[in-house]
Amino acid sequence: MAEKYTSTFKRLFSYVKPFKLVFSIAIIGMVGNAAIDALFISQIQTFIDEGITGKSSDVLAYAPLFVIIVFILRGLTNFMATYGLGWVGSNVVMSLRQELYEKIMNLPVSYHDQTSTGSLISKITYDTEQIENAASKALMVLVREGAYVIALLGIMFYHSWQLSIAIFVLVPIVAVVVSLVTKRFRVISKRIQQAMGNVTRQSEQMVSGHKVILAFGGQEKETEEFKNVNNNNRQQRMKMVATKSLSVSSIQIIASFALASVLYLAAQPDMLSSLSPGTFTVVITSMMTLLRPLKQLTNVNSEFQRGLTAAQSVFEILDLNAEPNNGTKVLEKVSGQITFNNVGFAYSGTDTNVIENLNLEIEAGSTVAFVGRSGSGKTTISNFIPRYYSPGAGVISLDGVDLEDLELNNLRSHIALMSQHVVLFNDTIANNIAYGLKEVSRAEIENAAKLAHVMEFASSKAEGLDFMIGENGSALSGGQRQRIAIARALLRNAPIFIMDEATSALDTESERAIQDALNTLMKDRTNIVIAHRLSTIENADKIVVMDQGRILEQGKHAELLAQNGAYAALYQLQFSEGSA
Ligand code: ADP
Ligand code: MG
Repeated sequence: MAEKYTSTFKRLFSYVKPFKLVFSIAIIGMVGNAAIDALFISQIQTFIDEGITGKSSDVLAYAPLFVIIVFILRGLTNFMATYGLGWVGSNVVMSLRQELYEKIMNLPVSYHDQTSTGSLISKITYDTEQIENAASKALMVLVREGAYVIALLGIMFYHSWQLSIAIFVLVPIVAVVVSLVTKRFRVISKRIQQAMGNVTRQSEQMVSGHKVILAFGGQEKETEEFKNVNNNNRQQRMKMVATKSLSVSSIQIIASFALASVLYLAAQPDMLSSLSPGTFTVVITSMMTLLRPLKQLTNVNSEFQRGLTAAQSVFEILDLNAEPNNGTKVLEKVSGQITFNNVGFAYSGTDTNVIENLNLEIEAGSTVAFVGRSGSGKTTISNFIPRYYSPGAGVISLDGVDLEDLELNNLRSHIALMSQHVVLFNDTIANNIAYGLKEVSRAEIENAAKLAHVMEFASSKAEGLDFMIGENGSALSGGQRQRIAIARALLRNAPIFIMDEATSALDTESERAIQDALNTLMKDRTNIVIAHRLSTIENADKIVVMDQGRILEQGKHAELLAQNGAYAALYQLQFSEGSA
């Protein structure tokens, strides 16, 4: 356990390396600052013994100047330390945050499917913030106050080791207390982190599911659940506060024993005779002064442990494997012929095969439609083609090349995808259409918008294609969002088009416009369509009827109807629903 923290610390420190110079300056500032404070205290002896007791006006005359110089140097070193450390800390956290963001983006779809959005967001926002605190504030206290404690001890021993020896009895006791408290801090830190993750997750769920909550009257339930995570978070924090204040108090009590021993020793006759008032004052002042940095050091320990635990959780993510991209083959152009050969698949963590021994030929330039009950594996199959998931058994090939052998970005560049839930970004219509494309002209965007019937509604907005659509297109209707998605796919002009059709019912007007846009899009491409409305696929070259991960029937619309099997039954059902 402790070893893990040491390696976490080392690794965190490796992020400081690029900023070595500023970091060294900051360290010099911190140590210098502590040294100046210590020097100030050690000069009390000269001031009392030579100045006041010895009645030396020289020493007393130089005292005011000394004070001013000391405080100027103090200010200077403090600036070096605070600014330098702040700079290094913010840079370290920026690079960690960036790395984390990119890593999360590149994690496999399977990871994202299994992990709550809130907990990932909490890592990017809260955990990195904790690291920043540890890297700046906590480190500052650790180094500065640490150096101060050492300097104060040095002064005490320098002035009278006989008096100061008492303090050594306490070192082991303090060490035991600190190590116990440290362990406790780590445990609580981890819990706070999880509690924060829960707070974020719950909030995220409430914000994204807002309408459903209203519609189903879930306010009370959500309020109750948030109350729980919110309170749990508070409880964990209070445990931290309790441990913190208890540890500070106990260490101060321990320190008071040291102070008492010093006073006791000083009162011994032979000690008394050899002790000057200045020396006595310096030792006592040093001891009293020690209490403050000791308190800060014990206090900051919690923050430091929090930072380390956070760093650990961040590193855990950074150490996850990104989407495997071991393929090296690059195809400049593909015809779009896709073959499934004995493909089988089970989602990780389950033993049931959701796809079983699937064999299928998708001719280049043809349209293949998947139909079947929900849960029959249609979406799973469509996820194989852009390699969101890789099949556990069998081979899927594109133009005769195993998908696994293709370079991932190259593979995906041949695919345009329209998922069941149209995803749009909080940007203009035009930028949403051109999403992911680097060189694209306005004319091309406009053309795609026209073909996809986006212009029909965009032209009614004052900003036209520059209309900001809001988060995930909240300022648009479902049909309008779909049309933008179609325009996006059109502009991408990829040889393979995959569509997981949204089930939402549309008005006839939209339906006609969307069907028309889709027909334009699907011309001269390999299309893989998961259809819910059978009317959209009557003209498909091949209709594949799925059931429980297997192909039940395949053929053209008329052929399947003539077979009078599962497809015919499905068709009858929808037909009667439609006419009802
Ligand atoms: P369809 O698109 O035909 O409705 P899916 O391909 O989405 O069906 O799902 C096929 C089966 O796989 C279902 O039983 C579903 O419960 C399961 N499934 C889908 N996604 C996951 C996942 N991420 N983890 C585990 N099981 C899943
Ligand atoms: Mg589906």
